[in-house]
Amino acid sequence: MRVHQVFILKTGVLLVALSFVFSGPLYGQYRSKYPDIPIVDVHVHPGNVTDAANFIKVSEKIKENYGSNLAFWVALSDPGKENAEQMKMAANGRMLFTASQMSPHKGLTTTSDEVIAKVRDDGYIGLKFWFGPPYRVLKEDEEGITRVDDPRYEEFFAALEKANILITSLHIADPNQVYGNRGNWLKDPVYYWEQIRAFENVVAKHPEMTIIAAHGAWLVCQDAQLDFLRYMFSTYPNFYVDISATCQYIPLVNRENLRDLYMEYQDRLLFGTDGGRVGDDNMVNYISGRYANFFAILETNQVVSSGYFGNNPTKGLDLPREVLEKVYYKNALKLYPGLKEAMGL
Ligand SMILES: [Zn+2]
Repeated sequence: MRVHQVFILKTGVLLVALSFVFSGPLYGQYRSKYPDIPIVDVHVHPGNVTDAANFIKVSEKIKENYGSNLAFWVALSDPGKENAEQMKMAANGRMLFTASQMSPHKGLTTTSDEVIAKVRDDGYIGLKFWFGPPYRVLKEDEEGITRVDDPRYEEFFAALEKANILITSLHIADPNQVYGNRGNWLKDPVYYWEQIRAFENVVAKHPEMTIIAAHGAWLVCQDAQLDFLRYMFSTYPNFYVDISATCQYIPLVNRENLRDLYMEYQDRLLFGTDGGRVGDDNMVNYISGRYANFFAILETNQVVSSGYFGNNPTKGLDLPREVLEKVYYKNALKLYPGLKEAMGL
């Protein structure tokens, strides 16, 4: 093949690739049909005052460029009472915080009494309990707690249940994809299902404790997992999920199956992103576009070139207005203490 033929071939491939990349409503092209619906992101991790202040800039940028009303954030990493106050101010009062247990594999670093006091006295709205795969936390051969239903947590959960403390976020397991394409997270399916079962035991044992699992309880990467998610919803009325960091997995499952699940369990889903550091104006622009992509996936049936994370072209779910209202804020209003007042609704 001659040089100019190679060039033409390469240019052709590039043009096809570019037309594919720009075929979705990416950055600047999407305009929300629902500027009046307030959106609460129930899963973020701002690290400091700058991040919190820049979330307001993100909200302004989104309103200007995409029309959506990103109104409020629930921060899941406890920065301490004083920092939380300052960050809340930087975010114009549009942010609430949770107590957090980020590495319980090594044992609890807080007591149930301390969590209850934070919620009752310091304005925290619940507890974040991170329980990813233990090997992400424990070194090889290090002893630790490997299942979330370990009896050593029992008293802790029972006390929170009795005090009516919301488990604002429980991260369980990690993404487990199909055979041949396991991805980079929890590759071992047997271990994955052990973690999911252990989580189910906790949900079953504490029927009065409302648990919002992070990331769709990671039951969103295979159609079989969606079946189990349905089983969880239909069996346990105290079980909810946020959809943070899940939109990049939508192309892995049957779109109609996932859409049906959203329709059927629209009262149990909450919007979230798992976003965090927004250190400068470049990040403000970038994060705003990512949010808009996620909104487009939920609100339209167009092919979007990526989600909040990832770069997989994704056909939107085209959810009706009443479902979007619930996922964006009405379900959160029902569950999160003080949110309604904080939002001025
Ligand atoms: Zn998170």
